Amino acid sequence: MSNAVLQMQGINRTYGEGKHALTILDDAELSISRGELVALVAPSGAGKSTLLHLAGLLERPDAGSLSIGGVECGQLNDNHRTRMRRLDIGFVYQFHHLLPELDARENVALPQLIAGCSPSQANERADVLLDHLGIAKRASHRPSELSGGEQQRVAIARAVVNQPKVLLADEPTGNLDPSTSDLVFDALTDLVRSTGLAALIATHNHDLAAQMDRTVTIRDNKIVPLT
Ligand code: ADP
Repeated sequence: MSNAVLQMQGINRTYGEGKHALTILDDAELSISRGELVALVAPSGAGKSTLLHLAGLLERPDAGSLSIGGVECGQLNDNHRTRMRRLDIGFVYQFHHLLPELDARENVALPQLIAGCSPSQANERADVLLDHLGIAKRASHRPSELSGGEQQRVAIARAVVNQPKVLLADEPTGNLDPSTSDLVFDALTDLVRSTGLAALIATHNHDLAAQMDRTVTIRDNKIVPLT
């Protein structure tokens, strides 16, 4: 049996129909194991967002199978997919998308409250994560009072707070200066490796990609190692 957390096989994704059809992925496959960090490096327009949307259950493939933690997601109804998105998948974007009226702790507590956790438990776990990411002292600050690197670390804490199986990130440090980017990236990799997440991280930064376990790209509609 495969120990892949995220597994995609025979995936096809085509936008439009007939002579306007644009095939992004055709019989593509990708497998990511526990604790594995995979960089996704491809030129703009190659299909990175499409792949992240498929893996994040935001889009459905036109063909093929996609499983997360051994659960085949193709047959699931929308409610079940929404629940998996909430509990099994964490997202980190280039811009933090934190809620401006909530402080750092509240932003991290929120996904837990939505998942049914008690406020005291949610706050406690938020504090543990903020501490782990080196920003415990900023817990009661709102996003506007945090630096870019701190905001992004709060966003990372929020993404993993419900202990998802898969972490998907789109240019998570793309908005930061190089030294802050390194700091945030180190915090991210540390978290992935210590929690056994399977991570797929789109980046244009080849230095960061080189620090991950492997790099894939999208070429001729397939997901292939970047050589
Ligand atoms: P990337 O993230 O690598 O820049 P995308 O996955 O956003 O690439 O897009 C890949 C290609 O698919 C692009 O040519 C884009 O215009 C096209 N595309 C993306 N989404 C849609 C859509 N909903 N309908 C039609 N074409 C789309």
